[in-house]
Amino acid sequence: MYTVERKSSQDLDRIAIKDDARLCFACSICVGDCPAAKFSDDFNPRQIFLKVSLGIEEGLVGKDSPIWKCTTCYTCYERCPAGTKPLDVILALRNLSLERGDCPESVESVRKSVLKQGIATAVTDHVKKLRGEMNLPDVDDGDKPELEKLTGED
Ligand code: SF4
Ligand code: SF4
Repeated sequence: MYTVERKSSQDLDRIAIKDDARLCFACSICVGDCPAAKFSDDFNPRQIFLKVSLGIEEGLVGKDSPIWKCTTCYTCYERCPAGTKPLDVILALRNLSLERGDCPESVESVRKSVLKQGIATAVTDHVKKLRGEMNLPDVDDGDKPELEKLTGED
């Protein structure tokens, strides 16, 4: 009989319990309708669930993980017959990667922009010009004091 040794990861256990990952019975419905799985050979929400349940962090947490390929479309969330929330597990894994300071540069730049400006994209001179042409109000550095209160960063 083929057996897989269960590893020990408190972080993955926390995610598995909080997001009901252990209710997954590997039906693959989430894979069949997943747009990211359709266009990527190494992205498979069912495998992600399995690794979380088995406590396997290798290749699952960090900037090189396939978790960043999820489009957050919520299709798996709606289709899963077990009532689990595959997307929540993926988002929890992203947050864990971020907490460990191991996420893709593109994600890090969005994080910095939110902390600096309160928005996810940089307000470039081109954006300012377009806003002016559309008679939209100026966007500056956002409400920094409020952001500082929320994030504790300056
Ligand atoms: S649809 Fe739900 S039960 Fe089926 S493999 Fe995906 S997460 Fe598991
Ligand atoms: S939310 Fe992510 S994992 Fe779920 S179906 Fe969409 S792309 Fe796939």
